[in-house]
Amino acid sequence: SVFSKINLNHVIQETVDIMKPHATLHDLEITYEALDGECHVFGDSNRLKQVFINLIKNAIEATPAKGKIQVGISRKASEVIVSVSDSGCGIPKGKLDKLKEPFFTTKENGTGLGLPVSLNIIAEHHGTVDVKSELNKGTIFDIFLPAL
Ligand code: ADP
Ligand code: MG
Repeated sequence: SVFSKINLNHVIQETVDIMKPHATLHDLEITYEALDGECHVFGDSNRLKQVFINLIKNAIEATPAKGKIQVGISRKASEVIVSVSDSGCGIPKGKLDKLKEPFFTTKENGTGLGLPVSLNIIAEHHGTVDVKSELNKGTIFDIFLPAL
């Protein structure tokens, strides 16, 4: 993997641009609020793109038409926080622990690998992931990465 100083604003903007047609196809709105100012991290931009694509893809698959997917970025102390939230079906409390397990899927054609792979990539970047979900309201994935 190729680690370098990267601007997360750019990486996320590119990811949202890649995923926008998929959201549109599902009649979903996707928004990205870029951060004013510094948001550099030391990382592998292709691997991080893979993470954000996985999260946005899951958000699209969880959200009924007319729903909304919001991608945001913020800066707190020495961390950059990227959040991907949807207005979708939510995850039952009892299933939250399962998200880390490879091959856990609730989809007919799911692999159950998107999240485990994403969590590994974030761990390689010395980051952490926090999930908040409310049934039939939506889900928020917060990705914390050390700021450079
Ligand atoms: P897959 O998408 O192939 O099922 P993932 O590892 O990406 O595998 O996700 C595992 C499971 O986690 C999904 O099948 C789904 O049940 C749940 N999940 C992930 N993201 C969301 C989300 N944004 N909203 C609701 N459920 C989700
Ligand atoms: Mg997935």
